[in-house]
Amino acid sequence: MAFKIALAGIGKIARDQHVPALMASPDWELAATVSRRGSVDGVEAFENFDAMLEARPDITVVSLCMPPVPRFDFARAAILAGRHVMLEKPPGATLSECHALKALARRAGVSLYATWHSREAAMVAPAKAWLAGKTLKNLVVTWKEDVRKWHPGQTWIWQAGGLGVFDPGINALSIVTEILQDPIHISSSELLIPENCETPIAANLTFAHPQGAQVSAEFDFRKEGDQFWNIAIETDQGSLVLSEGGATLSINGEMQNAAIGDTALKGEYPRLYANMAALVRARGIDMDLAPMAHVADAFLLGKRVSVEPFVE
Ligand code: NAP
Repeated sequence: MAFKIALAGIGKIARDQHVPALMASPDWELAATVSRRGSVDGVEAFENFDAMLEARPDITVVSLCMPPVPRFDFARAAILAGRHVMLEKPPGATLSECHALKALARRAGVSLYATWHSREAAMVAPAKAWLAGKTLKNLVVTWKEDVRKWHPGQTWIWQAGGLGVFDPGINALSIVTEILQDPIHISSSELLIPENCETPIAANLTFAHPQGAQVSAEFDFRKEGDQFWNIAIETDQGSLVLSEGGATLSINGEMQNAAIGDTALKGEYPRLYANMAALVRARGIDMDLAPMAHVADAFLLGKRVSVEPFVE
């Protein structure tokens, strides 16, 4: 039987990915939306979250797609009302609130899922399998995109807690923390912050690796023209490049996958919802905060450099 689910925060990602994934899955019935402006044709629409929880006790799962700063209050209310909760990335605005949600979910006996959609890109698992047993020598993340193209009008990204360039950058970190065998930690961080913004538009990070491999990441929101979402890795037994956000993989210069671009990325959200269905059935909690811990560390160690104002 399908789980009834409510989707809250009907913005870009809810429309682009969550709604199609839910509509296509036999595991789920999209039973309600909660949004001040958005709705989905044919689905009961609420503007108030508490009113939805009150009116629809039959809806046992909620998926939260609003930006990170307001998300905690929604997640807390849902858990206290006995609902299972799925969180868009990043799972919250701070690590402490994520830990608090995990404790609340445990106490309430409900499932809680911190999703990392990029981990579900088609070639992440094959990359992880290829890396197993090899010695890492070098890893370079290059995540450079045009914020005007991908985040039009999203002023929250530039406000404290909106992460700036770490909003896409955390996707790279979710892949890195998934595929590497050894834990890494940030050793230096430079944050380029526009004079009129509270969050960085670019960041340069280096990481310490237990076996001394060179690990670095360059995030930039100002890239026009070609866009890059690449992770290039050298090991003692050859090299690997994950590109297009994990959708394509080349090993020692040979392309490994048939599906590329959009086609290969389309599986991300269906896989997230399949994971959530399994988690709810098992009453499980999956709250891996490793990508977010790196972002928090980047802010803790970050050397701030003021750059020219950002005008959309
Ligand atoms: P968005 O287009 O700005 O939409 C977010 C929605 O959340 C808005 O439509 C708004 O709906 C609601 N919202 C905004 N501020 C709110 C507040 N203070 N309180 C309650 N609801 C609020 O943002 P998005 O791109 O969908 O991103 C949302 C989340 O998904 C972010 O965490 C982002 O990192 C993640 N994500 C985005 C993408 C992407 O490509 N855009 C990809 C993967 C993950 P109402 O005003 O109608 O209530």
